[in-house]
Amino acid sequence: MPPLLEVRNVTQIFGDRRKGETVALDDLSFSIDDEAPSFTAVVGESGSGKTTLARILLGFQQPTKGAVYYRGDDLGQATGRAQDQFRKEVQAIFQDPFEVYNPFYKVDHLLAVPIRKFRLARSRAESRDLMVDALRVVGLRPEETLGRYPHQLSGGQRQRITVARALLLKPRLIIADEPVSMVDASLRATILESLRKLNQDFGISFLYITHDLTTAYQVSDNIIVLYRGAVAETGAVERVIKDPQHPYTQLLVASIPLPDPARRWGETVVAASGSEANGGPGRGCPFADRCPYVMPVCREQAPPLYRTHPHQAVACYLHRGTETVLDGDISQAFREYAPAGAP
Ligand code: SF4
Repeated sequence: MPPLLEVRNVTQIFGDRRKGETVALDDLSFSIDDEAPSFTAVVGESGSGKTTLARILLGFQQPTKGAVYYRGDDLGQATGRAQDQFRKEVQAIFQDPFEVYNPFYKVDHLLAVPIRKFRLARSRAESRDLMVDALRVVGLRPEETLGRYPHQLSGGQRQRITVARALLLKPRLIIADEPVSMVDASLRATILESLRKLNQDFGISFLYITHDLTTAYQVSDNIIVLYRGAVAETGAVERVIKDPQHPYTQLLVASIPLPDPARRWGETVVAASGSEANGGPGRGCPFADRCPYVMPVCREQAPPLYRTHPHQAVACYLHRGTETVLDGDISQAFREYAPAGAP
């Protein structure tokens, strides 16, 4: 059986040779299993390629090279039934819940649109029942939500409504692009917990795209750390965060504030240095200009992904001598990870 979603050798280049090219994504390959629902975080700073990835996965953009397959069908070629199935089964939650709303329509309208479009109900009463159920699942009280205008709701409530809207379609995969970055800090954990619950209770897989390593660690099973369009490190989140092997991931992890009086804020394992203007993807390791361990080979060719552990892979020449990930498919490092001591 083909995977639910497969990203195969996806490269996205913006610009042209004359004016200058920017490689937003560099030969990315991974898959999301259909049988075992997963929660995968894609983490990176601004310019890492994570938003480009979300756009390609949702079919908003065709990659320059490579392809995305949904249930074995090339998304770029999908028409008719395959396209409808994708639109129903893959839903998106975006950063800004305000953007989804037309201020002149009540919440009911936002929920009614997918019900009508995908003919999910045969009557008004059935449609309302579906709305009520979806709102309850995301922890909202229907009597306090339906009949209201967007400005009468908080940012957290609005984001929950977008989750409820996605849920109506019984999706197999939700692509959540920075879903809590515009929500009050006090509500972030609650909303992420509700996403995790949907993953566990309804068997929905999630791709959680974020710049925030802490929340990625809290909710995810697997993680992909992107740096300037390329995978720096990937694998089971427990492995990658607790024992990062790539100098960039070490830098990110060391920057997470911890309640440890002996440790100062911002203390890092790796000092960032040098210019970021050189050494982009395709010209050696993209991290070369910031890396204190840089070697001549790092500037010659981009490192492959070395498998440093059954559930961890690292694109760094410091791990030469370890086997490489087959065909660059990083999902090999995702499967069936149980930390030591787990039941
Ligand atoms: Fe540093 Fe070289 Fe590893 Fe890149 S490949 S992270 S430059 S040691």
